[in-house]
Amino acid sequence: MDLQKLEQFLKDNNQPKFRLEQIKKAVYQDGISAFSEITTLSKDLREALEKEMKVLSFEVKKVLPSNDGNSAESLLELSDGKLIESVLISPKPGLWSVCVSCQAGCPVGCRFCATGKMGFKRNLTAEEIADQVLFWRQYLQKNLKFKISNLKLTNVVYMGMGEPFLNWEQVSESIKILTDKKLFGFGSRSLSVSTAGIAEGIEKMAKEFPQVNLAVSLHFADDEKRGQYMPINKKDNLESLKKALQKYFEITKRKVFLEYIMLDKINDSAEDAKKLADYIYSIGKLQLLHVNLIRFNATPETSIENLKPSSKNQTQFFKKELENRHISITIRKSLGEEVQGACGQLATH
Ligand code: SF4
Repeated sequence: MDLQKLEQFLKDNNQPKFRLEQIKKAVYQDGISAFSEITTLSKDLREALEKEMKVLSFEVKKVLPSNDGNSAESLLELSDGKLIESVLISPKPGLWSVCVSCQAGCPVGCRFCATGKMGFKRNLTAEEIADQVLFWRQYLQKNLKFKISNLKLTNVVYMGMGEPFLNWEQVSESIKILTDKKLFGFGSRSLSVSTAGIAEGIEKMAKEFPQVNLAVSLHFADDEKRGQYMPINKKDNLESLKKALQKYFEITKRKVFLEYIMLDKINDSAEDAKKLADYIYSIGKLQLLHVNLIRFNATPETSIENLKPSSKNQTQFFKKELENRHISITIRKSLGEEVQGACGQLATH
C-alpha cells in the first residue's frame, strides 16, 4: 500500500491524523483486503478510499496452488503492465514463508536461471516488494484450500526474481516496512536476503541490517567455471567475495548460507567438492558457513543450456565429500517445484 499517497489523501480530505493509524492497523495487522471492510471508518470515507486508493500496488493475474497445499505461486501485474512472480511456501505445517521478487526480470543473467533468461525489465519499488507479503497474508486468511488452524507467516526471503543488491535502495526500504512494528512487525532475523555475490552489497547489508540473514549463491568454487555460468563473477570474483564475507563476519558474527546448485557433470565432482571445501577454509570462520545443496530445476527458459540436475547418488556423494572435510552442509528440500516456484524457476510464463 502506498502509505505516502494514503497520508496525502487523508490530508486532502481533512481527515484527523488517527485515521492513518486506523487504516494501517486494519491492513497490516487485521489483514483486511479492501477498504470497504474497515468498519471503523465512515461509509463516505470507505467509498472515497475504494475509488481513489488501492490496498495492493498490483493486480493479481493468477494464483497456482500446489496439489499438496504446501506452496503456491502468483503472477502479479504491476501498474505499468510488467509481470512478476511471488511464491508462498510452507517449510513446516502451519508455518509459511514468502519468497519475494525485487526486480521484474534480472540483469545478472545466470545461465541456469529462468529469470536470468527473461532479461531485465525494471526495479520494483519498496511498496511493490512489501505488498507481495501483504497479498500472501490476505490469501492465507481467505483461502480454504490451505486448512490452517494457526496461520503463521513467519519468514520473508528475498530470493524471487532479481538481485537485491542491484536495487538496494528499495530493498532496504522494504526491509524497514517489513520490520516496522506498526506495519508487518517481522523480526530482522525472520528476513533473509539472497545475493548472487555482489561484494559491495554484502558489506552494506552488514552495516545497515546486521540481524537480517544472508545467503550467497556461490554455485561454483572455481573462477573459470563460475564466470562461465554466472557473469557477475567477472566483476566480483571469488577473491572479492571472500573479502566481503570476511568483513561481514567481522561486523555481524552471524552465519552465512552458501547456496550450491547441483549441475550434472558441471560442478558436482570430487574435485569440485575439494575446491569448495578449500574455498570455505580460505574464508575462515568454518562454524559460520553452512552449505545448502540445491537441486537444479530445468525449465523451458533454460532448456537451451542443456543442463541437467545431478543425480541423487551424486548429490549424496558430494555432500559426504564435504562432510569428510568437516563442512556444515545440507541438501535443501526443493519446495515449490510443482508450481514452478522453486529456486531459479521464476519466469513470467
Ligand atoms: S539466479 Fe538470481 S541473480 Fe542469477 S539471474 Fe537468476 S535471479 Fe538473477
